[in-house]
Amino acid sequence: MLENKNKNKNATSIAQLGEFGLIDHITKNFKLEHKSTLKGIGDDAAVLDFESKKAVLTTDLLIEGVHFDLSYMPLKHLGYKAVVVNLSDVCAMNATPTQITVSIAVSNRFPLEAIEELYAGIQKACEFYKVDLVGGDTTSSTTGLMISVTAVGQANEEELVYRSGAQENDLLVLTGDIGSAYMGLQVLEREKQVFLVNPNNQPDLDMYSYIIERQLKPEARTDIKGLLEKLNIRPTSMIDVSDGISSEIMHICKASEVGCNLYEDKLPLDPQFINVCEEFNIDSTTIAINGGEDYELLFTIKMEDFDKVKANPHFSIIGHITSKSEGLHLITRENTKIELKARGWNAWND
Ligand code: ADP
Ligand code: MG
Repeated sequence: MLENKNKNKNATSIAQLGEFGLIDHITKNFKLEHKSTLKGIGDDAAVLDFESKKAVLTTDLLIEGVHFDLSYMPLKHLGYKAVVVNLSDVCAMNATPTQITVSIAVSNRFPLEAIEELYAGIQKACEFYKVDLVGGDTTSSTTGLMISVTAVGQANEEELVYRSGAQENDLLVLTGDIGSAYMGLQVLEREKQVFLVNPNNQPDLDMYSYIIERQLKPEARTDIKGLLEKLNIRPTSMIDVSDGISSEIMHICKASEVGCNLYEDKLPLDPQFINVCEEFNIDSTTIAINGGEDYELLFTIKMEDFDKVKANPHFSIIGHITSKSEGLHLITRENTKIELKARGWNAWND
């Protein structure tokens, strides 16, 4: 799995197809499902109609060597993940994703079969999350692969949730578990180094399956909006966990002008994650709050909604909001108070 399999396949050069041939080829199997998509691929612009709803719009750019490494990231997974990270941002507004556009820049190192793999992943995500691919752009690159996805979503105005609505005494709630995607990456990096030394050494990654899946095939929490609706909960603020909760909490607190206490013993950690942290001799709390790419949702709710979430397996109450002057703290298992510092992923550092 650590090899770029596409190198070994029969390779068709992209140049043979030309730009328009390529666009036709990679987009022909996509179907449009949404009534709101009046016009998809094939004109100068897509046309969308949300009637009385509000539209949300978000975009991400992924660069080979910066955001992904094709030596352990299969292209199909990359396509899927590139869509998911954008849908996650739509979910973080408490909106429902409906359309995407995908733009790619490809060097001549990539044969058509590689682009087909990438689009197979994009299509899988479109089908699973029921979003329409309505456009994009295709161009060449002198070095690696770049992929940019833009996602559109819709919501009623009163459903939209911003980072800025958290208030003192609100509860801080997290979906799913955290830290695993980061440790999945550490395992993949380690195995890549082993592989570089001895290419015949195919790693046995069974015991890491959950954390590796969290890294290679994350999912967007498109289920949470409906779940909260059913529970009759309207979050006061919300953000998705792309850079680690420490950094995300800071964004909420800054935008809302509040402080917060986060409790170490409340952090939802998967047993496989805990085992791997032990194996790497690394502190699981540090990774849980600073690791990124889990694509869970972090949100605040009114204290009176406590009973509605307390026993729900999708949610963990991990802290509460305080006044701005109290600052941002992690309360450890030993009951000491440590100031929260953002060590989230920063594009300008390594
Ligand atoms: P233009 O010259 O107006 O930019 P293009 O020839 O680039 O148009 O694109 C033709 C159509 O194909 C447009 O609808 C565009 O959105 C769509 N398209 C182009 N590249 C991609 C891609 N990589 N993925 C999906 N749709 C694409
Ligand atoms: Mg174009």
